[in-house]
Amino acid sequence: MPLLPLLPIFHRLNREHFDGTLAMNGQPLSSVRWSDGRMSRTAGFYRRGPGTGEGRGSEIVLSKPLLEPLPQEATESTLCHEMIHAWVDLVLRRRESHGPRFRERMEAINAAQNRFQVSVRHSYPVPVRPPRWWAVCPSCGSRYPYRRRIRNAACRRCCEQHHGGRWHCSFVLQFESAV
Ligand SMILES: [Zn+2]
Ligand SMILES: [Zn+2]
Repeated sequence: MPLLPLLPIFHRLNREHFDGTLAMNGQPLSSVRWSDGRMSRTAGFYRRGPGTGEGRGSEIVLSKPLLEPLPQEATESTLCHEMIHAWVDLVLRRRESHGPRFRERMEAINAAQNRFQVSVRHSYPVPVRPPRWWAVCPSCGSRYPYRRRIRNAACRRCCEQHHGGRWHCSFVLQFESAV
């Protein structure tokens, strides 16, 4: 799927699911744009702050590398997710991320149509970086993936089971290289 222009999708979603509250005089309240080619850890984000969104003070950014290869519904679902954040922030003026107002609006949108589903987590294949280390519990043998070694981290399961959730030296994880 080639890169789609985002504004027409924004305006349609705004009409269908936000009663038009996310635009004024035909202009989106926050800027909406594709990322550059490097944004590969998340499918999209919304943020507000001085200097963002070309002076508009807030922006929605969608990941070009993650969404470009996926069907259009992935772009719509991601854009809609970020629009709910913008709506909670700019229209309701609430400070919450995936709180009750976010979820209520998300569920209403999911119930109102079946073109796409919005989820709290972006649920398409965001490439996960492989672990560099396995942390192995010497007592129960549980293996936990880690990006880096953590000194004196202990097995949560064993500490909960045998020590009322308190750290104990006999369950300190042993790190094995995973690469
Ligand atoms: Zn979110
Ligand atoms: Zn254990």
